[in-house]
Amino acid sequence: MADILIDGGTNEYGFHRGLEIKSRRGDIGQTWWSTEFRNAMEKEVDPQELEIGRRSARKSLINSFSVVPGEIEGVFNESRDIKFHPKIHIDSIEMDIWQELFNKLLKESYAVSLLLANRMPETLAKNLEEYGSQLFPEGPLNCSCDCDSEHKICRHVMALGCIICETLDSNPFVLLNAKGLSQDNFNKILETAWGQDEWQNVAQDESITPLEAHVESFYKQLGELDDHIYSATYKNIEVLKSLGYPPFIPSEDRKIQTNLGQLYK
Ligand SMILES: [Zn+2]
Repeated sequence: MADILIDGGTNEYGFHRGLEIKSRRGDIGQTWWSTEFRNAMEKEVDPQELEIGRRSARKSLINSFSVVPGEIEGVFNESRDIKFHPKIHIDSIEMDIWQELFNKLLKESYAVSLLLANRMPETLAKNLEEYGSQLFPEGPLNCSCDCDSEHKICRHVMALGCIICETLDSNPFVLLNAKGLSQDNFNKILETAWGQDEWQNVAQDESITPLEAHVESFYKQLGELDDHIYSATYKNIEVLKSLGYPPFIPSEDRKIQTNLGQLYK
């Protein structure tokens, strides 16, 4: 069974719905880590296959894709009766190397907090190199497909690659999982390092009063407030500029960026 399955679902007539892409023009994938992946996947590709693949991805012809360590496989909807199964093979990294790497990275809470926020820490890529491994494929892609294309890297693989780039922006675990580090493995590494049992058990141990039991008093003040009044001074900063480009906004939509920039000052 796949560790990650991203599926467009079915429409009201029971037909499979394809995966949608937000980006309407240009390159697909906005973050530095999806750009790295895209650069690798576009190496030694026939430009026409790339263009058709990109267009097919925008037409939502990829129905779903699944990820297991070592492989990402898509379902390409060629027609109602014909489906192709493009695959991208990824060199997986052994779990003991991930564990060793995180023993080091856990000392830098920033890298861990980025991963928890679904962002790829740059230090992860750099540190993996020390173990002789690469986070991103070097390209050309190691791939296969059950179509009869004469091209080694066909349009179906390219369409799958485009969907992967789009998904990677908000979920770097699509690549990490293919490299052998699932979200569950990552959580377990944190639980062990922080000396916690499974997080679900911690939550279950807490006795929580059901909301219905204190409807009357829910908004009541439980006691006198502290006399101390805290004050803080804030410096005006341009939040969007400091945090970087938000991947969920289409890059070509300058108007939203300008308006949000004004709001988040
Ligand atoms: Zn193909």
